[in-house]
Amino acid sequence: MTEWLKTFGGGTAEGSAEILDLLGGKGANLAEMANLGLPVPPGFTVTTELCAAYYDDDKRFPDSLSEQIEAGMQHIEAAAGAGFGDAANPLLVSVRSGSRASMPGMMDTVLNLGLNDETAAGLAASTGDARFAYDSYRRFIQMYGDVVLGVGYHEFEDLLERAKQGLGVQLDTDMSADDWQDLIGQYKAMVVARLDAPFPEDVGEQLWGAMRAVFDSWMNRRAVTYRRLYDIPESWGTAVNIQAMVFGNMGEDCATGVAFTRNPASGDKCIYGEYLINAQGEDVVAGIRTPQPLSAIGEGTGAPALEQAMPEIYAELGRVSSRLESHYRDMQDIEFTVQKGKLWMLQTRAGKRTAAAALKIAVDMVAEGVLDEATAITRIEPETLEQLLHPRLDPEAPRNVIARGLPASPGAAAGQLVFSSERAADLAARGEAVILARPETSPEDIHGMHAARAVVTSRGGMTSHAAVVARGMGRPCITGATELRIDTDGGTISAAGVTLGEGELVTVDGTRGELLAGEIPTIEPVMSGAFATFMGWADGIRGLAVRANAETPADAATARKFGAEGIGLCRTEHMFFDSTRIVTMREMIVAKDSDGRRAALAKLLPMQRQDFVELFRIMAGLPVTIRLLDPPLHEFLPHGEAEMREVAEATGLPVEEIGARVAQLHENNPMLGHRGCRLGISYPEIYEMQVRAIFEAAIDVGESDGSAANAALEIMIPLVMGAPELRILKDLVDGVAADINKARGAVPAYIVGTMIELPCAALRAGDIAELAGFFSFGTNDLTQTALGISRDDSASFMDSYVRHGIFAEDPFASLDREGVGELIETACQRGRAARPGLKLGVCGEHGGDPASIHFFQNCGLDYVSCSPYRVPIARLAAAQAELRRRRGPIAGTAAEKNRQGV
Ligand code: PEP
Ligand code: MG
Repeated sequence: MTEWLKTFGGGTAEGSAEILDLLGGKGANLAEMANLGLPVPPGFTVTTELCAAYYDDDKRFPDSLSEQIEAGMQHIEAAAGAGFGDAANPLLVSVRSGSRASMPGMMDTVLNLGLNDETAAGLAASTGDARFAYDSYRRFIQMYGDVVLGVGYHEFEDLLERAKQGLGVQLDTDMSADDWQDLIGQYKAMVVARLDAPFPEDVGEQLWGAMRAVFDSWMNRRAVTYRRLYDIPESWGTAVNIQAMVFGNMGEDCATGVAFTRNPASGDKCIYGEYLINAQGEDVVAGIRTPQPLSAIGEGTGAPALEQAMPEIYAELGRVSSRLESHYRDMQDIEFTVQKGKLWMLQTRAGKRTAAAALKIAVDMVAEGVLDEATAITRIEPETLEQLLHPRLDPEAPRNVIARGLPASPGAAAGQLVFSSERAADLAARGEAVILARPETSPEDIHGMHAARAVVTSRGGMTSHAAVVARGMGRPCITGATELRIDTDGGTISAAGVTLGEGELVTVDGTRGELLAGEIPTIEPVMSGAFATFMGWADGIRGLAVRANAETPADAATARKFGAEGIGLCRTEHMFFDSTRIVTMREMIVAKDSDGRRAALAKLLPMQRQDFVELFRIMAGLPVTIRLLDPPLHEFLPHGEAEMREVAEATGLPVEEIGARVAQLHENNPMLGHRGCRLGISYPEIYEMQVRAIFEAAIDVGESDGSAANAALEIMIPLVMGAPELRILKDLVDGVAADINKARGAVPAYIVGTMIELPCAALRAGDIAELAGFFSFGTNDLTQTALGISRDDSASFMDSYVRHGIFAEDPFASLDREGVGELIETACQRGRAARPGLKLGVCGEHGGDPASIHFFQNCGLDYVSCSPYRVPIARLAAAQAELRRRRGPIAGTAAEKNRQGV
């Protein structure tokens, strides 16, 4: 016969955290605490298996259950020394849900169950406290009426409010036993009026009703939505915990509270939390009374701390806390109740904490010998490190949200609204803080984005231009704020009935994807010693190297500060948008023939060379991958009359001719048009200039300070389909190298490699690898081309695709493993079969996404490259990926489950 339940309490338990799947989080930890000999009120857990059986059999309980429930209740009665339904000495129980994953507040709970007219009188007599007994009874009717019988909670509350008004009292605590009894009469009458049936007096009926309601709540709307959001399978089901009630509201020697074993904000080792004397658990969270601190030090609300009010209880709580922490080897969040001077533990689970606290706790626990370094590494979600790298908004400050979009680049910044990159650059040059608002951005906006403190766009997704560039620069950014109307001509933004114009102050919260009115104070990041220690451990473990995508000296310096081991992608196009260069670039583009282009490129060469000199100096011998020009040329073209005239003046050509050339370069589908290596093939002089600039810069730096002499130069060709394009362009690079060798007597060591960012290139990786010194997966374009989804236009439907489960996550943020992933695996296998030891990396946005990094590790990649601000995240994710490879999945251990807050 299936055992549907497991008992606990009285110093022992039938279950333990090892059977979390059956007991649910709460039940597992109650059993674990009971096994540790901690004071846990006796009870039993009806397993998740029953939930499955209940739903499988059309919401009917199996016949074998009632006998087992009866035995379970007898266990509680014996341990608690009270009888369920016993008028003289009544046992009251709580009935609570508890699924495998924590789903706070999503399912139902019934407290004080077992009260009826007789037992309430018995409770009054046995405790000598009629007020307490009838308060508990009315709480029970209210909760049961709402949760089990479906009478609205507010209907009871209305009656309570009216009663208080009639009596002229303000607080529940002002109600006498008689007042509660009157109200109970009214409650019951209302139940009869609503349901045409009396409130159940039979305690057995109450118990079954509550159990059924808790199982039913697994399928309520809240729970279903929560499961969808947090990816919790419906098949897991919930357990139900039935446990003897203990009371924190039986007088001044009673209390209830919540304790963390370490400070969840700072990570300091101390008991941290709040409690209330003479209260039930719900009173602590209800906010009606202000809870008091547990420890006397550091809190200071004026009210006595538990340490002073109940010193023995405080000392015992300290002992229990240490016991739980060393057992679970993690910071715990504990709920407790003190009944008539005796401490009871009601719940423990891994405590939620800030990123700073998580780091401090992990490092401290290693120093204390509680954890080893590898385990400490598994304790931090890589994404949370982001909180430590950017300024963030003061959490205490009020927020007036104007619009929401995608949290494209984290951090927060405030400033004046501007609507053009030129204006952003002008005002920033005068020392003003500005926020750039654009419907979308293009490479031309680089200088404006650089000048701005933050960027907001109404269009675009997580890998649209604005998102990629802002992340690279560390600028907070919101993209796809579709509800925001940005009128660049009129110079206004409007949403939610608010219209703001240029110069008005706004704050961008890129971490949450919220645009806020006004200036909200920010808190600067502090890189604590714990951060450096922790990241050092991660570096010692990981196998994947971590590089950064960077092209400006500032980005490269940031990348090194965050521990990048090289540059995995230098997008050279960004170097041409500087206001001093763009006109020359345009001269080159509008030139009629190769000679005209060469003349303009000759002017660009020294500038480009200087860019590389600075980059090589900062990277000081670390590998640098430079990608030759990639975007369609029209992205550089002049817009509007004034810009056309400027180019006309520089080139001496008539404005009409410039206009005609612009029209000629127009493409209907530029991302699949004349871009990437196709430019290098049709206009080889552009790539020749870039390659020359790279070599000459490396030689110059090598000669002047020797630092780049041993730099591994990696010249990368974008957007190849197969070997023929690469052959032509590799010959071009080798040709320039030969020229340099002739002219300067030497040429720096270099490798020519390619991006794999078209499905065809992934499939033909074997041929390509015959020529390529390395592959770097451009997963942004590879996702775009494999799925046929525009990376700039997916925001409008991606939400619904995720909601329908077509994608688990936005595939531009986290790699689509089935489709795009298979192309990557195929390319790795075919590439390495043709050229053993072929260097493999990734430089799309996925290089900074922890889940994708796990996948890349399994593919055997050598490195990932990501925005500078994601480098620490990638370092940690790479260490975790390596640990997972070494020890297999860690998600099955009891401690891990507790850590996940279940
Ligand atoms: C890519 O496509 O993944 C890539 C890194 O190149 P870009 O984002 O510049 O197109
Ligand atoms: Mg690309």
